Amino acid sequence: MKINTNFEKMPQNYLFAEVGKRTSDYVKANPGKKVLRMGIGDVSGPLAPVVVEAMQKAAAELGQKQGFRGYPPYEGYDFLREAIAAYYATLGVRTDPSEVYVNDGAKSDAGNFGDIFDVDNAVLMPDPVYPVYLDSNLMSGRRILYMNGSEENGFLPLPDPSVRADIIYLCSPNNPTGAVYTREGLKAWVDYANDQGAVILYDAAYEAFISDPALPRSIFSIEGARTCAVEMCSMSKTAGFTGVRCGYTIIPKELSRGGQSIGALWLRRQATKFNGVSYPVQRGAEAAFGKEGYAQCMEAIAFYKENAAIMGKAIGSFTKYFGGSQSPYIWLKCPNGLKSWAYFDYLLNDLQIVGTPGAGFGKMGEGYLRLTAFGEREAVLEAMERIQKAPF
Ligand code: PLP
Repeated sequence: MKINTNFEKMPQNYLFAEVGKRTSDYVKANPGKKVLRMGIGDVSGPLAPVVVEAMQKAAAELGQKQGFRGYPPYEGYDFLREAIAAYYATLGVRTDPSEVYVNDGAKSDAGNFGDIFDVDNAVLMPDPVYPVYLDSNLMSGRRILYMNGSEENGFLPLPDPSVRADIIYLCSPNNPTGAVYTREGLKAWVDYANDQGAVILYDAAYEAFISDPALPRSIFSIEGARTCAVEMCSMSKTAGFTGVRCGYTIIPKELSRGGQSIGALWLRRQATKFNGVSYPVQRGAEAAFGKEGYAQCMEAIAFYKENAAIMGKAIGSFTKYFGGSQSPYIWLKCPNGLKSWAYFDYLLNDLQIVGTPGAGFGKMGEGYLRLTAFGEREAVLEAMERIQKAPF
């Protein structure tokens, strides 16, 4: 019996598990201290009222003989696939409901999509990066190429025609840096992928935070994307579903490689390893895309964006930062040239604020720290007061 030795290539702990462990160790050792958590990107809720109503109604239906349902379809109920396609239409993007694959969150698809691709593919991803893309490809033993995000390129690397890649991960608005690709930037990636026959796995988990109409909210608003891209999105941040669990992936009909339809391969994979999302959750997600539900979800997003603006103002008074205005993340440069984990430890031990060390997202993240804007207003104000008084 042999274990998968690729695990030896990965950091021992998943980044957020490490942040959680250091925080809980601190809390255990200092029970009286008020710790303000701005590390893990979890929302503070609550769910939109129409979403709750829809889930309650769906649960009641399941309690009736006529309304009972068993296993859901692998790719999601038609009512939700249609609601998602209709939502894309409001963004000016054409997608057919049959191209929508419902899942239990974008992390699952971001981590699992590699199942349908050969191990012998070169994977290109940004550094800093959302760790799921990296760790899942390390686990399966793929060759990884990095493209550096830096202050010079605004943490938005563009394609280098001399680099050959087969699978490309892009995330916009970006986790962790909050940077958002322009239409021109995405067009450069789409052209590069089509030229190389590569596939872009585009993570749009934070698209609902984009309010600047000049910025693209879907890669499918870019000409040519339907022949080279898959888009993954999540209800977690759009509708506060981090605990409810629902997301979706869009795979255009035109997308095929090696003579095989990517959508058909993905459905084959899902039918083997995934048994669908529960009916009440899908009804809740459908409600979030209704007129009233979406307006209620947008109120929560506006609130988090106000948090980000408050944080940006406070942090900008003592150091440089990125992100914030079109995303829930503030990516700040650690003051006085501190390294990421050193600044993390200072904030935790001296100010009782939890961030996420930039170095945990890759070597280019060293010297930066990520704060999230998903907290309660009171906690955000208190954290900013503490940090402004004693940035370091
Ligand atoms: N993609 C990105 C970029 C994320 O930051 C996250 C969560 O933080 C996810 C995907 C996972 O989302 P979900 O809760 O839908 O699994």
